[in-house]
Amino acid sequence: MLNIHDPQIAFLTAFLQEASELAVKIQKEQAGQKITKSDRSPVTVADFSIQALFAERLKQAFPSDVFIAEERARILEADPASLEKVQRYLRGKLSNDALPNLLELIDQGAGENVPETCWVLDPIDGTKGFLRGEQFAIAVAYLQKGKVELGALGCPWLDAECAPNPRGPGIKVIAKKGEGAWGSSLGGQPFLKKIQVSERQNISNSIPLGSVEPSHSNDAKLEELFQHFKIKSPAKKMDSQAKYAALAGGYGDFFMYFLPRSNPEHRMKIWDVAPGACVVEEAGGKMSDLNGEILDYSQGLTLRRNPGILASNGFLHDELVQFCKTRI
Ligand code: AMP
Ligand code: MG
Repeated sequence: MLNIHDPQIAFLTAFLQEASELAVKIQKEQAGQKITKSDRSPVTVADFSIQALFAERLKQAFPSDVFIAEERARILEADPASLEKVQRYLRGKLSNDALPNLLELIDQGAGENVPETCWVLDPIDGTKGFLRGEQFAIAVAYLQKGKVELGALGCPWLDAECAPNPRGPGIKVIAKKGEGAWGSSLGGQPFLKKIQVSERQNISNSIPLGSVEPSHSNDAKLEELFQHFKIKSPAKKMDSQAKYAALAGGYGDFFMYFLPRSNPEHRMKIWDVAPGACVVEEAGGKMSDLNGEILDYSQGLTLRRNPGILASNGFLHDELVQFCKTRI
């Protein structure tokens, strides 16, 4: 059972609630507005607002803790209209001292090294889904001595069963190593529910999950896999680590990221994986790379040693690895 009075759990619970509400507000009000980063990926006012909010709440709860996060303040600094919006969304949330120092606050998470013990944040995971008004997740992990100790996802567009629900209010899932994955509502009704993966063992009857953006994986290889195992269900597609929560809750049975043809050297960033992986594993599922190797979070910002991702309910894992490792 999760101890909700544990200071780290209480911190994550309060942060996911506050951040999810803010993200939904911005998603609705800013409808699709984005800034384009140098790698051509999009970023929004919500990404910066939530990174700053995390920095402030972490400082209040655990003043000596450090965190590593996805966004960098210089992009916001170069866009005064967006900076003004972030300030507006955070007014009343940040102290009067913190608000003028927003850029420094954001860059507290801009380290290029990953300390053995630190927090990891993706303020808006699945920014493309966020921009389409669809799935996204706020993703946080806590690493201790290079291992994921806590994983937490705020998923405003998943229901209490971790199935998509475009009406909300959404779920927050917190997993602690050895203590399971637990869900509670982002809406009013209080509950704390153990999250568990499906028990489906027959791969041809299994339900795959997948990315919406084809460029994040390899559709031809996915198609080959579906044919090979005679999988009847098409992939249920959703953006972000909401997929990890959906797998953890048994809405789907597996997913994988093959290396994209256009970008075969691509490796995941630590914040793309650590929060969701902890949730999946604590819900009874299994995580590895495409070779079946364990995920190594000790290689800096990227999972340099791990090509692709394979996530499953555990039962299907070995069969999937046998297929995937010959097709990297
Ligand atoms: P999804 O939310 O399923 O669309 O996938 C998001 C993941 O795709 C992120 O965690 C990234 O690591 C990965 N990703 C983003 N851009 C690319 C890219 N250009 N090539 C391969 N993977 C990418
Ligand atoms: Mg992000």
